[in-house]
Amino acid sequence: MSAAHTCIALESMDEMTELHEANGAVSANGLSDVSHPIDTERIKRAVHEIILAVGEDPAREGLLETPRRVADMYAEVFSGLRQDPADVLQVGFNEGYQELVLVKDIPFYSMCEHHFLPFHGVAHVGYIPNGRVVGLSKLARALEILARRPQLQERLTGQLADIIMRTVEPQGVAVVVRAEHLCMTMRGIRKPGSLTVTSAMRGVFQRNAATRAEFMSLINE
Ligand code: ZN
Repeated sequence: MSAAHTCIALESMDEMTELHEANGAVSANGLSDVSHPIDTERIKRAVHEIILAVGEDPAREGLLETPRRVADMYAEVFSGLRQDPADVLQVGFNEGYQELVLVKDIPFYSMCEHHFLPFHGVAHVGYIPNGRVVGLSKLARALEILARRPQLQERLTGQLADIIMRTVEPQGVAVVVRAEHLCMTMRGIRKPGSLTVTSAMRGVFQRNAATRAEFMSLINE
């Protein structure tokens, strides 16, 4: 698979805005190899250990139910590990439409795999059909499945573009993601408001500067 990509800075709330190149690497089906269900009892034990390790009292009233709450939360925010975005995108229909289809400002929440802290923002997804189109909500659903995994913004961007290319088989796909990472804003370098922008261009968006420019101007309107 050719992992072609472009990277364009869209806006910067301050000088800390980072520019990342979207990585096109993705497993064959975009699905992590997880064959067993989430072990919530194990998460509860681990969170109990963390509470002790930071010097808190797991028997304190406010913390009593925290291991269970955190286990339930992880089961939800990592539910995408057990779902394949290809399944939702395979339901398409033939329209003969060959112009740009663009869905802007799709909100998402994901978890940075380096810190297990959220990153969240919006994705803009455009594609030029080769006759076959998918329901617009399916694009948002595919994004959600990919976001509900331990993730990197760069990988999320590339995986979404690749899965649309593979399942919808359009002439091209463009994905731009803008997100704030809590691991950058609430800890470490602490730069509130900084946005990370990633993009992945496939097919005609990668080959044709005018097509890419049309997409970029539409998402900045
Ligand atoms: Zn992080």
